[in-house]
Amino acid sequence: MKYKPEQNFINGKWQDTASGKYLDVVSPLDGNVLSKVSMSDAKDLQDAVDAAKNAFQSWSNTPVKERVQVFYKYKTLLERDLDLLTALCSEENGKTLSEARAEVEKSIELTEFACSIPQLITGELLEVSRGIECRTEHVPLGIVASIVPFNFPSMVPNWTIPNAIALGNCMILKPSEKVPLSAGKLADLLKEAGLPDGVFNIVNGGVDIVEAICDHPEIQAVSFVGSTKIAKVVYQRATSNYKRCLALGGAKNHLMVLPDALPDMTAQNVAASMSGCAGQRCMAASAMVGVGNVDAIINKIVEEAKKIVPGKNLGAVINKQSQERIEHYIDEAEKQGAKILLDGRKAVVSGKEKGTYVGPTVIDHVTPEMSVAREEIFGPVISIMRAKNVDEALKIENANPYGNAASVFTQNGAMARYIIDKASAGMIGVNVGVPVPREPFSFGGWNDSKFGVGDITGKSSIEFWTKLKKTTVKWNAEAGVNWMS
Ligand code: NAD
Repeated sequence: MKYKPEQNFINGKWQDTASGKYLDVVSPLDGNVLSKVSMSDAKDLQDAVDAAKNAFQSWSNTPVKERVQVFYKYKTLLERDLDLLTALCSEENGKTLSEARAEVEKSIELTEFACSIPQLITGELLEVSRGIECRTEHVPLGIVASIVPFNFPSMVPNWTIPNAIALGNCMILKPSEKVPLSAGKLADLLKEAGLPDGVFNIVNGGVDIVEAICDHPEIQAVSFVGSTKIAKVVYQRATSNYKRCLALGGAKNHLMVLPDALPDMTAQNVAASMSGCAGQRCMAASAMVGVGNVDAIINKIVEEAKKIVPGKNLGAVINKQSQERIEHYIDEAEKQGAKILLDGRKAVVSGKEKGTYVGPTVIDHVTPEMSVAREEIFGPVISIMRAKNVDEALKIENANPYGNAASVFTQNGAMARYIIDKASAGMIGVNVGVPVPREPFSFGGWNDSKFGVGDITGKSSIEFWTKLKKTTVKWNAEAGVNWMS
């Protein structure tokens, strides 16, 4: 085993789980066991809650300008350890080194945003009547939890850690049991950056810990990122226990390609969007709607996709179960009459035969009822449908229950604006295959891609991680002025 077992990080120290249970952490790149992860129980969670509770008073009373100093330091440590974090992320998740590096760089950008929080949370103050003023302040919630998925082991934890903690909360992170190693390294860096013990804790595990978090009476808010099925369960359970909850779910992102789209640029963007991180991105292009005759562009997409080779510039999918699920979707589409223009099934990388790879797959003549058109595949697969006009393309996009992202490829500005208005998704791209808003713009989808109010990053996250205190002061009490006068 290459790495020591991943313990829980509680009150600034690594400790074994009370359950005594562990699960192997396997690298999708070659099937080797990298480590094992604690499968914690309610006792471990209680230890983390106790640590966070002890730390909260002092941390929340620390001025915000002082709190963010930890994140200025944390940013320099992420930069110092960029190579190490990149390698760890690639090993445990299966993505390529350049994709892993981009993810850690995004973590740095997220931390920069948190450093700007003092500038963003200045309250409001107004003399509302003679000698009377009202003011607002952002107050931390207390103990909060963040539950994260496997596909971005470094970036998604950093969607929540810097902002929630800089705003004065104490956090319990529940990493994905498939990729707990990057999160563990983040805990070490936060400690080295000077974060007081107990402010950030990790409880590793699976379903049991997620349920215990949703039920724990002392946890005030829960953020969740993962599949729609589990997002719904977590949102329902956490809010039924009167917690604040923001739960981001899965996606089925549509690209609409118009006949006037620039062929080379469009083909490169579509191929990169469907296959980046082996299609395991909630922002990946999963369905394409060609409007009118776009055959020449589709041919170019196939040529571009052929340049993406498993084990070289295409990483692995997370495990055998995922590989089989993705291949099953392709089998089904073929049986239902779709045409496989490029087939990524049964991909094997020489010397890494136990790795779990799927090659880029382009499926044409898909119809909207097919499962490859409707469901999230989470692999390097694009399902191409055809529409006679833009309204028909929008109808297909709108009918899908998800709403994370949608993109249009065209040179016609008015048409692009029309699609921006009519597409039912939270994040829209024009000639952009992966329309992730960069900081300080916030990230979040619509419909079945997100449950709860607001977005998970950017200014919107400030509202999620704080509550407003509204104060009214009469400075001239002796004047006997009615405050409403
Ligand atoms: P997942 O839903 O299986 O797991 C997410 C988290 O929930 C993990 O920490 C896991 O341990 C926990 N979990 C799993 N099953 C559970 C259960 N039955 N009860 C309670 N908790 C449970 O998701 P995943 O496979 O790790 O990640 C991939 C999914 O995440 C995809 O659907 C992807 O689209 C989505 N995702 C969405 C976004 C977004 O911004 N909307 C971002 C990243 C990933």
